Amino acid sequence: MSQDLHQFLCIHGHFYQPPREDPFTGVITPEHGATPFDNFNEKITAECYRPNAEMGNFEHISYDLGPTLAEWLERTHPAIYARIIEADRHHVKRYGHGNALAQAYNHTILPLATPRDKRTQIIWGLADFAHRFGHPAEGMWLAETAVDIETLAILAEEGVQYTILAPWQAAELIDPTEPYRVVLPGGRSIIVYFYNAPLSGGISFEGEVTINADTFATSYLPHQLNQKKIEDATDQIIVVATDGELYGHHKPWRDRFLEYLVQQGAQAAGFEMTTLGTYLLSHQPTREVALHAPSSWSCSHGVARWGSGCGCTEGDAGWKPQLRAALDHLASRLDEVFERETTGALSNPWEARDNYIGFHNGWISTREFWSRFGRNRGRLVSKATRRRTESLLAAQYFGQCMYTSCGFFFEDLDRIEPKNDIAFARRAISLVWQATGTDLESDFLARLAVPRSWRSGRSGADLYRQLPPVGPKMLASSGLRKTGRVA
Ligand SMILES: [Zn+2]
Repeated sequence: MSQDLHQFLCIHGHFYQPPREDPFTGVITPEHGATPFDNFNEKITAECYRPNAEMGNFEHISYDLGPTLAEWLERTHPAIYARIIEADRHHVKRYGHGNALAQAYNHTILPLATPRDKRTQIIWGLADFAHRFGHPAEGMWLAETAVDIETLAILAEEGVQYTILAPWQAAELIDPTEPYRVVLPGGRSIIVYFYNAPLSGGISFEGEVTINADTFATSYLPHQLNQKKIEDATDQIIVVATDGELYGHHKPWRDRFLEYLVQQGAQAAGFEMTTLGTYLLSHQPTREVALHAPSSWSCSHGVARWGSGCGCTEGDAGWKPQLRAALDHLASRLDEVFERETTGALSNPWEARDNYIGFHNGWISTREFWSRFGRNRGRLVSKATRRRTESLLAAQYFGQCMYTSCGFFFEDLDRIEPKNDIAFARRAISLVWQATGTDLESDFLARLAVPRSWRSGRSGADLYRQLPPVGPKMLASSGLRKTGRVA
């Protein structure tokens, strides 16, 4: 590699799957579209995660591994999981900085979340990262790169140094070949890399761009360089950011394209491969930028695609805001019950929630959790109260899952993704019902009857009622329904 390279390339892959497990059984119901595999996680693993890990591609790119995918991979494909995690360790050893970024935990559209939920999502994502990668995250990937100033302020407060955004999220003309600084209220700031839109879009949506890695490196890449910087021999970076799954899953053989590009082609064309943290070592931002906020990478209407609905997907106008309103109302009820019922047992219920993910996922023991967050270190809290409190914390967990953004991404309500969000809501409702006897279900169902599929005519409440049956004591309605059927 030549000593005077001024051209750097960073390929970032956002690797993520939503939780697909039935929240009552923890088992993934077979997904027909994934045949011959049992479900999409398995299919995408075979087509993308496994080959990219085995080819060593993670060692050469920047990546984030969504917590819900990481958890599944660790459990079902530990060798692939280990290889992916190892890539970051290798970078830490070699450069003092990893090449993995954290991700907000449940792939929630953070600008649409309450300030408290934003914080929880970010803290859970950072805790999950530190647990898996063995060091604190320097950067965080935001679901759909959806951003507002409050989200960035919390990231900065929690020690996150940088994130990646689409160039159109800048409110002014920018040069995407360098990082920028966004100044935040309260004197903090955060670094933003803007990805290269033509290349990232080309890789994602145009088949011909990724047919040949040499062509990509020798003709597509140079076109995106800043000519002035070439003349001045100033360093510059091209950041390409896409969903990681397109390398092999959405686009067959693109795992091979990536392998050749990052392991040979880019270097041969005069680019040095780098990662976001390492690049910052010698290239701190010199310019500030203002952002369009809220904004995201896959909706040109801010974050309306996941909120009020917009022209990005047909048929949006009705069901998305209605489904969101039902979930928001349920969330406020869940929060109310949680705060009221756990104040006696937890010294600060919300601080306990922010620190709950390790306990939920099993890295923090029951004993440690209670000694840190229980009132009087949990000494005076009875076993029954502990159990009830833990159920209400679990309800908060599922209350976070129900905002998984995939539920709002597509055009119609009567699909598996919104149905999964509704299933998570039902699990939260069930936990509250069992722990306190508070029925949040009838009210939620009334609100869920409003959003309706424009294709099948089914309402959210219809989808709820089609969920797999649960035991008679699990929900206020399940006992009733059982009686009804017998009669
Ligand atoms: Zn839109």
